[in-house]
Amino acid sequence: MIRITELSLPLDHPAEALRQAIVKRLGMDDADLLGFTVFKRSYDARKKNSTITFVYIVDVEVRDEAAMLRRLARDPHVLPAPDMSYRPAGQAPANLRERPLVVGFGPCGLFAALVLAQAGFRPIVLERGRDVRRRTQDTWGLWRKSVLTPESNVQFGEGGAGLFSDGKLYSQIKDPRFYGRKVMQEFVRAGAPPEILYVSKPHIGTFRLTGVVAAMRKEIQALGGEVRFESRVTDLLLDDGRIEGVVLADGETLRSRHVVLALGHSSRDTFRVLHRCGVFIEPKPFAVGFRIEHPQSMIDRARLGKYAGHPALGAADYKLVHHARNGRAVYSFCMCPGGTVVAATSEPDRVVTNGMSQYSRNERNANAGIVVGIAPERDFPSGPLAGVELQERLESLAWELGGRDYRAPGQLIGDFLRGDASREFGEVLPSYKPGVTPTDLSSLLPDYAIEAIREAIPVFGRQIRGFDREDAVFTGVESRTSSPIRVTRDEATMQSLNVRGLYPAGEGAGYAGGILSAGVDGIKVAEAVIRSLLDAGGGSAMATGADRA
Ligand SMILES: Cc1cc2nc3c(=O)[nH]c(=O)nc-3n(C[C@H](O)[C@H](O)[C@H](O)COP(=O)(O)OP(=O)(O)OC[C@H]3O[C@@H](n4cnc5c(N)ncnc54)[C@H](O)[C@@H]3O)c2cc1C
Repeated sequence: MIRITELSLPLDHPAEALRQAIVKRLGMDDADLLGFTVFKRSYDARKKNSTITFVYIVDVEVRDEAAMLRRLARDPHVLPAPDMSYRPAGQAPANLRERPLVVGFGPCGLFAALVLAQAGFRPIVLERGRDVRRRTQDTWGLWRKSVLTPESNVQFGEGGAGLFSDGKLYSQIKDPRFYGRKVMQEFVRAGAPPEILYVSKPHIGTFRLTGVVAAMRKEIQALGGEVRFESRVTDLLLDDGRIEGVVLADGETLRSRHVVLALGHSSRDTFRVLHRCGVFIEPKPFAVGFRIEHPQSMIDRARLGKYAGHPALGAADYKLVHHARNGRAVYSFCMCPGGTVVAATSEPDRVVTNGMSQYSRNERNANAGIVVGIAPERDFPSGPLAGVELQERLESLAWELGGRDYRAPGQLIGDFLRGDASREFGEVLPSYKPGVTPTDLSSLLPDYAIEAIREAIPVFGRQIRGFDREDAVFTGVESRTSSPIRVTRDEATMQSLNVRGLYPAGEGAGYAGGILSAGVDGIKVAEAVIRSLLDAGGGSAMATGADRA
């Protein structure tokens, strides 16, 4: 395959124009082009009033590839395409005697279990929440009726934290082995739109994601894996610095010497279990702030100029950062074009915001977290769980300010900048359900964070016209931006620093920050488990509790 980069075509180009452009670019006969696939399609909207074009990267198959590459050897945009195919780390022996456990069925646990199942290791997945169908009903219970189900909500249940999300699938992780490609291909095989394989900022949207996750679970089961819902791990069986299994909330014990821990960032009770069991954990930086809402049409105009609303471009996004005078970085987080702000708590009497979109991204408002980075050394120095405690305090305060019934506290941007409490909302109506209480948010975050955000908003207003408009809305609190702890692991073995056989993974362990990177981490950890199981001759000789299942 040959890869061609920097192939520009107008936004409205007919389908056949791409083939013609490839033939022209390579200076060849059409008959010698055997086939092609789009590897990436992006557009550059930074200069919004100049012409926006699609820029393609395509992988092409031609009749005499070697001759073509020799002829175009000096062209920097024509190169051999890298081999991105996925090669499994190994295959389980027929006499498999140990089944690995995977705790958590978010994107990390999902991909760890899928890769283990595809390699024949028949993993057992333990997920505290419910399956997607029941979880969706439970989550709507909070949004529509203010009834929280603590074990089945936006954070917990099949699909993990990203299920009710925009389903953005991009990440800036280094990925030399193209595991991100494997994640995308598996999503497409399970029903995600094929375009996610090539558009530059792919997203699935929440409703499609639920079907995709359920299809992947069925594949794991068809391959001999097992997925147990409502199975919360409440203790670890440890023996002389080695994991021997886990205990579930109902008292059941499952034995295995290979346990993937893919907990996500909200499993605070399990973080405390880890701490109590002496698993090495340390605090890590995260960010706190509010969620902001504007009309999507305003964002489209500011970002795309005369192309605003162009069907080929969809709803515009943004990414903003400001380094405040007090040394704090303020940045936009998890921007959801044409979406809604969602109630994202998993704990009673706490309020947390986040954002989601459907695949169409056609809701009235754009939303994004506007958050301030905080770090253990200076902001919560008192131990490994101090960041967790800080999050809990902020979320309890948001519950109080919202009116103690899962409504979130909110404020107009104009009032926030002036320091006045809000009494009502203007043209921009907050989308958070079950509702938003207009108030003063300045007591909700530490003073340095409020000061930095007050400085950043007018700066953002100079980058996106209207960003600092009087009636834009802040809702809070945006506290679960990433895990406040790291369950540190050895780089080579991927195992916990002090518990052999325990594989901390994904966002909760501090090794991922989104759906794609969590999926990639799940693959990496599954491969480490496979290597270890194969080194041990396909598993330890012990009869495991897991084998009983
Ligand atoms: C509303 C929202 C929108 C988001 N939007 C996006 C987006 O558009 N794009 C993006 O890339 N990221 C997004 N994210 C972040 C993304 O969802 C996470 O980064 C990702 O899900 C992390 O994957 P994970 O598998 O590591 O953890 P999680 O997805 O959090 O999964 C962990 C799972 O472990 C289970 N679990 C926890 N403790 C136990 C236990 N003791 N026993 C058994 N099971 C347990 C939980 O129930 C959960 O299902 C969003 C998050 C939220 C909340």
